[in-house]
Amino acid sequence: MLVDLHSHLEGRVRPDTASELARAAGLPDPPEGWDAALRLDGPGDLTVYLQKVAASYPLFARLEAIERIAREAVEDAAAAGGDYLELRFGPATHVDRDRDAREVVRAAVRGMRDASRSTGMPSGLVIAALRHHDAATNDEMARVAAQLAGDGVVGFDLAGDELLFPRLEPYRSSFAIARAAGLGLTCHAAEAAGARAARQAVELLGAARIGHGAHIVDDPEVLTWAADAGVVVEICPTSNRYTGAIAELAAHPAPRFRDAGVRTVLGDDNPVQTGADLAHERTVLVEVLGWTPDALRALDRTSIDAAFLSDSERRELLDRLAAETGSP
Ligand SMILES: [Zn+2]
Repeated sequence: MLVDLHSHLEGRVRPDTASELARAAGLPDPPEGWDAALRLDGPGDLTVYLQKVAASYPLFARLEAIERIAREAVEDAAAAGGDYLELRFGPATHVDRDRDAREVVRAAVRGMRDASRSTGMPSGLVIAALRHHDAATNDEMARVAAQLAGDGVVGFDLAGDELLFPRLEPYRSSFAIARAAGLGLTCHAAEAAGARAARQAVELLGAARIGHGAHIVDDPEVLTWAADAGVVVEICPTSNRYTGAIAELAAHPAPRFRDAGVRTVLGDDNPVQTGADLAHERTVLVEVLGWTPDALRALDRTSIDAAFLSDSERRELLDRLAAETGSP
């Protein structure tokens, strides 16, 4: 089963589409071509990684482009055998005097809905506040997410450079707005910063899920707390390798999460940049990190439980999982 709970819209722009969108917007092609402009050559650090993701930003300058990128993102996940895709997206980056955040978000939702209808694969949009934006901007994104809660938007997140902007206090009010609207809450934390950042994201912002959380295992106290509190960690092994959060794939903390009883789910983060989609990440779990069929089944079950899905969609996925594994 392929339930993708951590994937960025900005990390799913097809290079061919990038080229067409650039032409339509009158943008010059990068000298190295779009494929090389978007893809990482190899492991670096979080800042380099985010720069590659940001190479796609100029392509989001028109609503039709956003709609197309979102539609193709869902189509690609469905074509790869996906069962559900939660896409996250930072709309504030793509707002200007011609487009407000609500229009930007609605364009993404339109594209996703189109593709979900045509492929039969459900999808949901998670709006991301960004660490380098001010509180007023992030609050505004939370309000837009709240207005569209249940209307294509399913969750709220905090993304961006944790090394440069480690404090979480500035985002409290945004998360409070999103929480009041009943949105699912997740937060990139302990990806570049230490373990305590994950605990703070849960206790200060109310996050139910932690994006990456690779450094949680560095602190046994926080690791035990995460297991006891039922925190769900969204693991993205190849992404962690490329951001430098881990030195090699075999060093990914996923087995330590599993052994400590921390609930984990899987994501591919920015598959165009890393060249690794969700099916690949699942293979990494099995072939590099020693995931057994039982452990995979537990991951699938947690993924369905922790996804920001409607009740009917959740039931459908549970039925599918039961049919796949031959047990209720
Ligand atoms: Zn991410």
